[in-house]
Amino acid sequence: ESKRAGGARITFYDSSLNRAGDWLFSLEQRLPRAIAEGELVLHFQPKVRLSDFRIVGLEALVRWQHPEHGLIFPKDFVALAEETGQIVELGKWVVRACIRQQAAWRAEGLALVPIAFNVSARQLEDDHLCAFIRDELEAHALEGRLLEAEVTETGLVESVEQAGRVLAALEGLGLSIALDDFGSGFSNLNYIRSMPIGTIKIDRAFVCDIRNRPSDAVIVESIVALAHKLGLCVVAEGVETLEQIVHLKTARCDVVQGYYLSRPVPAAAACELVRGAYVKQG
Ligand code: C2E
Ligand code: MG
Ligand code: MG
Ligand code: MG
Repeated sequence: ESKRAGGARITFYDSSLNRAGDWLFSLEQRLPRAIAEGELVLHFQPKVRLSDFRIVGLEALVRWQHPEHGLIFPKDFVALAEETGQIVELGKWVVRACIRQQAAWRAEGLALVPIAFNVSARQLEDDHLCAFIRDELEAHALEGRLLEAEVTETGLVESVEQAGRVLAALEGLGLSIALDDFGSGFSNLNYIRSMPIGTIKIDRAFVCDIRNRPSDAVIVESIVALAHKLGLCVVAEGVETLEQIVHLKTARCDVVQGYYLSRPVPAAAACELVRGAYVKQG
């Protein structure tokens, strides 16, 4: 690339930048085929209740099993899909995959726990999402309470009324709603007040240093106290150590999720975790 600046010709070429651009461009081009040809997979991460260390839910996290590049993580394609609008198709794929997974596990006789899926702002813009989920649930004779939708604050800012309507409809189908990454944005309490939110997921930024930063411990305790007074459940994200668990238990946090308990794992491994009913205890 070259630029003209006051007559002097400055040429610059950043090959690494360009390569990153090419890479993202190629992913964008291929994503529709990836969805259609079954290259997306879900991994599942358990949510563990602190009172008895039982698995009370799973979070579905999408990965792209690319034939040439191997396993690709959401940071490399989810934001891209949000920008291009492909997230709507991707989101439908995710919901359908969650419902089919539950139906398959039910057929195997597994005691089902709710599966949470992540919802992007774009998906809350139209009401088709609810009809789609309702139809998929019906097609597999599955109860809505076996699904949970995780939304982030940024997913709600665009149109609070529209998002509230969609979330209320999802709640009407029996789904529970969790506010993801809480504390990382504006932490607008208005959302908690005006949306049918049942769970707050405290962002891992407040969890990682909870042992060394008293202010983080105070923030977590305060969020938990507020949430409990409002009748909400609290999940702490990104739990990597036993010390963090001890602090979160002291703070009266209800549920923990993170590498210490289990990384996100493929369906077969997740099934084994749920069968075992509990993971590593401190
Ligand atoms: P999220 O919903 O907040 O999910 C938690 C992320 O933290 C996941 O990353 C998970 O693997 C990671 N994580 C879990 N435990 C730990 C831990 O102990 N330490 C650390 N450092 N990380 C941990 P992942 O799977 O790469 O997903 C990143 C984000 O991509 C998600 O954040 C979510 O916002 C988005 N995402 C994932 N799947 C989907 C999807 O199906 N649809 C949409 N719209 N977004 C998705
Ligand atoms: Mg999430
Ligand atoms: Mg999160
Ligand atoms: Mg996140």
